[in-house]
Amino acid sequence: MKNLKALFLVLILFVSNLLIAQPNSDKDDRIRVIAIFAHPDDGDAKMGGTVAMLAEMGYAVKFVSITNGDAGHHEEGGGMLAKRRRAEAKEAGRRLGIDEYKVLDNHDGELLPKLHIRQQVIREIRNWNADIVLGLRPNDYHPDHRYAGVLVQDAAYMVVVPNVTPDTPPLKKNPIFLFMEDGFQKPNPFSHDIVVGIDKTFEKKVDAFDAHESQVYEWLPWVSGNLDQVPDDKTKRKEFLRQGFIGAKKYLKQKGRA
Ligand SMILES: [Zn+2]
Repeated sequence: MKNLKALFLVLILFVSNLLIAQPNSDKDDRIRVIAIFAHPDDGDAKMGGTVAMLAEMGYAVKFVSITNGDAGHHEEGGGMLAKRRRAEAKEAGRRLGIDEYKVLDNHDGELLPKLHIRQQVIREIRNWNADIVLGLRPNDYHPDHRYAGVLVQDAAYMVVVPNVTPDTPPLKKNPIFLFMEDGFQKPNPFSHDIVVGIDKTFEKKVDAFDAHESQVYEWLPWVSGNLDQVPDDKTKRKEFLRQGFIGAKKYLKQKGRA
């Protein structure tokens, strides 16, 4: 996006596509969205409600986690944790109604913007024949999030270059690259070009997050110091999760960002 006019045109096209998409279309000409992030649950947190809505509208949606999440726990780790998290991600994808939730096999907590991982990202975007690519901004406190953002940024443009990663045919046109929302203020705060209301799919987002048991009921409460507040009962703990989202929403509203 080279200037403001081009950006405006892209946004108009994006929004008009949202409006004209047919529900549950099985046509091959579906608009193809791919979101690429660091861990199996990032996409659910960042845009679970949005992709559930896009899936309902007939978009083809794929999630790609660049790492396998094998470091995200206080009692488990390695291959067994990666296996558990891959299964959780698959179930979360099913609950969101998206086409695929892919987990690549790079180690969690050790992600770096290396060339072979950039090539993995390029292949994912090309093989999905993406119209829209969503990535993280490289401003994050977590190095995996930061470098996942860099990797997607570095793949942008390269996806159309035939001599780069020549084992996978290049895209004929460059997709639209967008950032997922975040709250980081430095070096520059996030600016919302597109805002999507997710009231209708909020419960699907909660459902998807509920599938990531190792994270939302174990690891994340442990690291936040409130593991003792997680109810044992499945219905009650889901309500605990839902209230967490609602609390975050209220906080953002107070800050004027939601
Ligand atoms: Zn993450």
